[in-house]
Amino acid sequence: MIDPALIQRPGISRRNFLAHASCFGAFYSVAARIPMTALGKALTSDSRVSQTPIVDKGFAAVRKAGDGLYATISDPSKGYTTLCNGGFLVGKDAALLVEGFASPGGASFQMETLRTVSQVPVKAALDTHYHFDHSMGNAFYGANGVAIWAHAAAARRIVESYALMQGAEKDVALAPFEKRIKDAKSDLERAHAQSDLNAVTGVFQIANATVLALPNHPIDAAKLPMTMDLGGLTAVVESHPGHSGTDMIVKVPEQNVVYTGDLLFSGWYPVCFDEKATISGWRDTLKKFAALDMDTLFVPGHGQICGQEGIATIREVFDDIAGQAEKMYKAGVPVEEAQHRYVVPDKFKNFPIYAWGFTIGPAITKLYTEWGAKK
Ligand SMILES: [Zn+2]
Repeated sequence: MIDPALIQRPGISRRNFLAHASCFGAFYSVAARIPMTALGKALTSDSRVSQTPIVDKGFAAVRKAGDGLYATISDPSKGYTTLCNGGFLVGKDAALLVEGFASPGGASFQMETLRTVSQVPVKAALDTHYHFDHSMGNAFYGANGVAIWAHAAAARRIVESYALMQGAEKDVALAPFEKRIKDAKSDLERAHAQSDLNAVTGVFQIANATVLALPNHPIDAAKLPMTMDLGGLTAVVESHPGHSGTDMIVKVPEQNVVYTGDLLFSGWYPVCFDEKATISGWRDTLKKFAALDMDTLFVPGHGQICGQEGIATIREVFDDIAGQAEKMYKAGVPVEEAQHRYVVPDKFKNFPIYAWGFTIGPAITKLYTEWGAKK
């Protein structure tokens, strides 16, 4: 997906640089054409979901998604304050915030909104994974005495990915991506390389403009699930493979509501670039989501709230990528070519694609690896 001759600068390995390129920056190139879709038809009649948001700031709106449950849904076409989705759970005794968002302003917005509905103490804020757009606002929580929970590997990965980027010179950091545009063998490859450059540029700018704050409450995934009693509201934290190697979800079993983090992109192509992303693992996780109650409501990491139809759709997207990749694999198409050749079918043509090299390209590369292709 990305030229192996990346970043020659001492101190920044290719591995680290790829990790820098979180799903956040790509928004600089795609956000303008991602209008937030209205609630799906199936949800307009779901009594758990309020039809009118309790607050709408443009960049994000918060709506009720159950009894004491709220979903913060971002609209990246209107700004990057939050960028990812999140939400909060409010019991009689305590509240749990979900996500650190892309900026302290995003975390602050969510906290303020929580305070319009309840004054209970906040038990914690959970980053569902380490990626930029879910953790860059952590500083707000830190400054306000809110414990930040995350997968035990999240803090390290934030440092490895973004702190290192803060010391890099922009021209040097971006040079390999510029080179890929220059060296592209076709218009298609050039367009893909350009979208990747846009993505990395965005991440670089944001990383350098932010004071990073790390989760201070590491969660050992081996000890999950963890059940939390918020007072008449039980939340269960679980970890599943797929998107980032640090993925956590929050389930509310009594109401069949799940906050999925980026294990669900609702009506989007999934972001698969992470070195710890696993396509087979992710598809297994989605299969588990599909086996949950038919009535389950999902608050995705990106895109609109959905029911089981949203899980069925992202599984279809993965099936389509894997189907096209498998044909190329069996026909002996080298992975370098195959990663560019996927054709977006009509039915997914309105699905936002982060930079190609963060979504479809690495999905195909990882599938080839899983199938035993030699590099
Ligand atoms: Zn992510």
